[in-house]
Amino acid sequence: MQANIGELGGRCFVDSAPVLDKAWAKKSGLGWVGKNANLITPGTGSFYFIAELIVDLELDYDGAIRDYCGTCTKCLDACPTQAITEPYVVDGSKCISYFTIELKDQLIPQSVAGQFGSWVFGCDICQDVCPWNRFSKATQEPQFQPRPELNQLSVSDWQEITHEVFQELFRQSPLKRTGYEGLKRNIQFVTGHGQPQS
Ligand code: SF4
Ligand code: SF4
Repeated sequence: MQANIGELGGRCFVDSAPVLDKAWAKKSGLGWVGKNANLITPGTGSFYFIAELIVDLELDYDGAIRDYCGTCTKCLDACPTQAITEPYVVDGSKCISYFTIELKDQLIPQSVAGQFGSWVFGCDICQDVCPWNRFSKATQEPQFQPRPELNQLSVSDWQEITHEVFQELFRQSPLKRTGYEGLKRNIQFVTGHGQPQS
């Protein structure tokens, strides 16, 4: 922008500050917020990060686009914990992503036992089932490629993961958010082997 416009001030963000990026993206026509509460872009789907530049310059802007969810309810029907309590409303406290990433130093309630499938860090089910994601393309970004060593781990390797192995496998990974103890708790929860006492 500086090359084309001249001197200006600003900052860029990608999930890196408490910016209401989804609301701004909706207002600026990057997509609509679907019944699963994700921003969906026609022809692209919803598997992406929203990035923003906040600058001290008034720019031309686009308006919001329409909502293309129509009569579809696939995300509501597929959510294993009924966290999408009504169209466009996700109860964060019922979402697998909340339990497996945000819930710190606590046990996962037994009321949701058996509902997580094999999700031990986050959940994408309501995006996986969204018909608009048939347009999404796998990223070519090297840093987002699956680490081959992870695909080689068996269920028992996961269950017996040590702090040392965790540190090695998840260096510079978002899994640091849940931490070793959190990941152990999640693995034990989904494999039905109880939960460590916190
Ligand atoms: S991320 Fe998973 S648990 Fe959360 S609302 Fe979507 S389908 Fe439900
Ligand atoms: S699954 Fe259907 S209802 Fe849910 S966000 Fe996608 S299009 Fe909308």
